[in-house]
Amino acid sequence: MMRDPRYDVLFEPVRIGPLTAKNRFYQVPHCNGMGRTYPSSMAEMRGIKAEGGWAVVCTEEVEIHHSAEYSPGIEGRLWDDSDIPIFARMTDKIHRFDSLAGIELGYAGTAASNRYSREIPMAPTHRPIDGYDPVQARTMDRADIKAVRQWHIDAARRARTAGFDLIYVYVGHALSIQMHFLSRQRNTRTDEYGGSLENRVRLFREILEETKEAVGDTCAVAVRFAVDEMRGPDGITSDAEGRDIIEMLAEEPDLWDVNVSDWHNDSITSRFAQQGYQENYISFVKSLTSKPVVGVGRYTSPDAMVSLVKRGVMDFIGAARPSIADPFLPKKIEEGRLDDIRECIGCNICVSGDYLATPIRCTQNPTMGEEWRRGWHPERIQPRGSDGRVLIVGAGPAGLECALALGNRGYAVTLAEATKELGGRVVQESRLPGLAEWSRVRDFRQGQIARMNNVEVFLDSRMDAAGAIEFGADHIVVATGSTWRKDGIGRENATPIDGWDQPHCFTADDVMSGRPLTGPIILFDDDHYYIGGVLAEKLRADGHEVVLVTPAADVSHWTHNTMEQGRIQTRLLEMGVDILALHNLVAIRNSEAEFACVYTDRKQVRQCGSLVLVTARDPRDALYHDLQDAPEALKEAGIKSVKRIGDCLAPGTIAASTYSGHRYARELDEPLQSGVPFRRELPQLADEKQVP
Ligand code: ADP
Ligand code: SF4
Repeated sequence: MMRDPRYDVLFEPVRIGPLTAKNRFYQVPHCNGMGRTYPSSMAEMRGIKAEGGWAVVCTEEVEIHHSAEYSPGIEGRLWDDSDIPIFARMTDKIHRFDSLAGIELGYAGTAASNRYSREIPMAPTHRPIDGYDPVQARTMDRADIKAVRQWHIDAARRARTAGFDLIYVYVGHALSIQMHFLSRQRNTRTDEYGGSLENRVRLFREILEETKEAVGDTCAVAVRFAVDEMRGPDGITSDAEGRDIIEMLAEEPDLWDVNVSDWHNDSITSRFAQQGYQENYISFVKSLTSKPVVGVGRYTSPDAMVSLVKRGVMDFIGAARPSIADPFLPKKIEEGRLDDIRECIGCNICVSGDYLATPIRCTQNPTMGEEWRRGWHPERIQPRGSDGRVLIVGAGPAGLECALALGNRGYAVTLAEATKELGGRVVQESRLPGLAEWSRVRDFRQGQIARMNNVEVFLDSRMDAAGAIEFGADHIVVATGSTWRKDGIGRENATPIDGWDQPHCFTADDVMSGRPLTGPIILFDDDHYYIGGVLAEKLRADGHEVVLVTPAADVSHWTHNTMEQGRIQTRLLEMGVDILALHNLVAIRNSEAEFACVYTDRKQVRQCGSLVLVTARDPRDALYHDLQDAPEALKEAGIKSVKRIGDCLAPGTIAASTYSGHRYARELDEPLQSGVPFRRELPQLADEKQVP
């Protein structure tokens, strides 16, 4: 297939300083939890982006000096020459596909507390570091400023040696010293680096000029700049200093990569913002510079991309998450395969990898982060290992992904689903406030499977053990999901909560299926991811009085890792949801619910019409156990294996389910591996005789 000529504009080459990018698809810098700790994993992942057609592929933030480091966070590291080979491997992989490699050099200032190096962080004016580490940064004197400038020059030269084409000066996300100098609140200096905007821009300008001088003859020098800190007039705003700064430096860099700050605002989840949410902030930039501009906004629609270029909003379509969910997005547009695009759902599970200092993962793309260590390619999978037929029971994210990947391997697959719809939990959850895009998990797979002759789907087909055995497949995969517990057992309560079995007690499933509830409602959330918070939001929007009670210090606590917690709690408070934190639900007596403070055990009682318990889930694994209990019948029917995947194996995230389904498909008919099932890269041991 050929691409639609409407999209030709996206495939025009664009000059960036001394370089030419082959098209307008630009993978902006993004963290990946692999970086310096899992270097081959990082390099392979970036190489696959290049293979997928991104004309520019960038690193994550790269530390330029040991006095500004994010340990145990895993970012890039270019402290000295010994770090060069890691990046050389990455650039080599990118260059194989004629893409340009970019590196985001950053000096963290107060954004990092130097837990590993134990150096004292530096700031324009002494301040506590960001976050709660008991560390304060010291005020930089002139020699410190000079030193940081030199470190940036050194890092830029090393980056060039490592093969990078595009070298960033990073002034974004409140994660770099240049940005700290810009801030009137962080910078109260009275010398030539503080006070007037001209003075606060000085360090940014100097580093930009010096980077150009050092490497600008052969490399392009890009700036990543946050035009708006989203903090109102106290911060940089796109209609005041953000604009002024672009005006002041308009022609200085070879490229402007512009966004909003901090990262919470830049990478908002789909629950809180739609595709294109940054346009209003950044659209002025192109009118002030002749240099190419790149912006982001979780763009997955080629029509939206074309419109951005045609309307003169940006020259490059920047993407982090859309390139994670589908590294081959450009190729698919180029080849006219729009239905094959795996669209990002905006859940920020990818971000959680970075937050938890572990390799990146993605709800939509189960191969993300597994490219090197498991050899999983997002678009290629090995052919089937036998003519075996596979029956998959349950068409949630796990069953759907399993069917798709097995279908791609060429197996004859039957997918049997009890309900009238595909999608499992995402059918219900995507109807909750803000979660509509989650249906993309189903839509993509449903669309793909519909075109496969070797995958047949039966809806309205509840399977029991006899039916599954009778079906006559070689392999049975049980992907029947999970149900929310009724009895309140969860993290805080190891035994059922006293009084849980009364008629006014409900589960998350009851609420999602529309069971009518009488207010006022108490929702007890001992799950701590998004469901408790989003159900409270829904019930409040339905007009109920709602109290959300949680044993944690704040609502939906785990969503700190998806950068949503602040927004969730703000929204609930603004809607009038009452929040009782740090309390456990200990007993339910008719209309009274008794709570205990998790510290003092001091009790309090609240009245309610209904209680919603969001605690833990039970795997829906009766079918699996029934099959296990019938070994003779399985043998007689010639069934070679019965396995459970996804929530049926152990309830988890949707990302865990797509991964589980994909893994099953990759491993079917493959020799069983003993030991660690993926490749590891071990640190190089130092010479024992080395004198410290
Ligand atoms: P996962 O995230 O593991 O895919 P879900 O709960 O989203 O889990 O999906 C499980 C799916 O399995 C649901 O669509 C459910 O209707 C279906 N299902 C459960 N039990 C059966 C059964 N016995 N036969 C067929 N489908 C079933
Ligand atoms: Fe998008 Fe979620 Fe994948 Fe991140 S994890 S790229 S937000 S689908």
